[in-house]
This record gives sequence, structure tokens and C-alpha cells, in this order.
Amino acid sequence: MKVGAKTDNGKVREQNEDAYGYHDGLFVLADGMGGHQAGEIASAIAVETILNTNFDINPISPEYALQEAVQKANQAILEEVARNPGQSGMGTTIAVLYIVTNTAYFTHIGDSRIYRSTGNALVKLTDDHSLVAELVKNGGITEAEARSHPQRNILTRALGTHGLLELEVSRVPAVNGDKFLLCSDGLTAVLEEDLIQKEISKNDVPQLIVDRLVSLANDSGGVDNITVILIEI
Ligand code: MG
Repeated sequence: MKVGAKTDNGKVREQNEDAYGYHDGLFVLADGMGGHQAGEIASAIAVETILNTNFDINPISPEYALQEAVQKANQAILEEVARNPGQSGMGTTIAVLYIVTNTAYFTHIGDSRIYRSTGNALVKLTDDHSLVAELVKNGGITEAEARSHPQRNILTRALGTHGLLELEVSRVPAVNGDKFLLCSDGLTAVLEEDLIQKEISKNDVPQLIVDRLVSLANDSGGVDNITVILIEI
């Protein structure tokens, strides 16, 4: 498995509230929200909590382990807010991918995305939990309009804002040559999927592709923090 990863502040935001991390086939990306640096805390707690979960305990299934890990991250953020009421309202998106025995298990909350790239096709595996995604689904606006919509940052689900979390875990095959992309909305808000796929298929080194995608997002305005993880099986 080859991995490239990068987070970047972008050109507009004062600080980077995105976070990411990975080890042993487990990849986590989070895009925090909340004033006074709280978003940074929420995304860091989420990534750390999930990365610290032991996925090797048998006979727990990967699906169950993922559910547990994300629920634990949710609780950890809520506990942090309970200790520090000044951080009230903080939360984060999450995108988690776990690759084991030729299978990729994944789950997400919010508008951080996971894509699978096979051959020349880029397939979005996740549906954003956001207001604009609902509007696109109902036919009110197009994908392109969603990218520049004034309310494009409004999430319909976030981690750390409610005790009970609705969570779906899915899986797809992960075979030799497949590529998986995790990204925060700082990438997809400014780059079209066709362009992203073109960059992915142009190069064989995941880190070079990631660096290129981040610089293209910055060239397109860098309106948000940008985080990208690219995995080649
Ligand atoms: Mg963002």
C-alpha cells in the first residue's frame, strides 16, 4: 500500500481546523468547526480517538469496530465540551476508511468525502450530510451551484454535537491498483471531480498527486483548509 497525505491552511482561513492521521490500513480525516480554535480541538480529538481504537480484537467485525470508534470519538468531544463550556458548539466532520483483507470499510459524518478510483473512473462513496447536498438531491440546485452556494458550510450531521449518532458503515472491494481518496471540502469546493480524477490517473506517486491537488485548490482560491489522503492498494 502506498500513501500520500497533506493538510494545508489554504489562503483565506486564519487557522487550519482540519486534522488527519493513519496507521495499519486505518485512515482518518476530520474537518473541525467552532470559534476560538475549538474546531481544531474537535477534529484533533476525533482523529486521535479513532486512531487509538484497537481494530484487531476478535471476534468484533470491522463494521462494528468502526461504529464503536466513531461513537467513542463523539463521546470524547462531548466530554471535552462538558469540561470547557467555552467550546460549546464545536464539532467536526469525519471520514474513516479501514482496509483489511482486500476490503475497504468506510463511514463518514458531514461533508468530508471518500472516493474510489479504479481505471479512469472516480466514484464518490459518501453522500454529504449538508444542506446543499439535500438541495442537489431534491433537484433544487446543481453540483456546480452547490460548490459556490452561500450556505454550503451548513452540515446536517456533525460529530460532537449530539449524544446519539446516526452512522452507516459500508464496504467495497480494495484490490491491487485501486486508489482511495479522502478529502475535506476545501478540495471539493473548488475542484471538479473530473479534474481530480485526471490528476490521479496522470501520476503514480500518491504523495505527488496529493501535493498537486492541494496546490491546484490553492490556485483556485484556497477558500478553506484543504486536506487530502490518497491510498494506492
Ligand atoms: Mg472545510
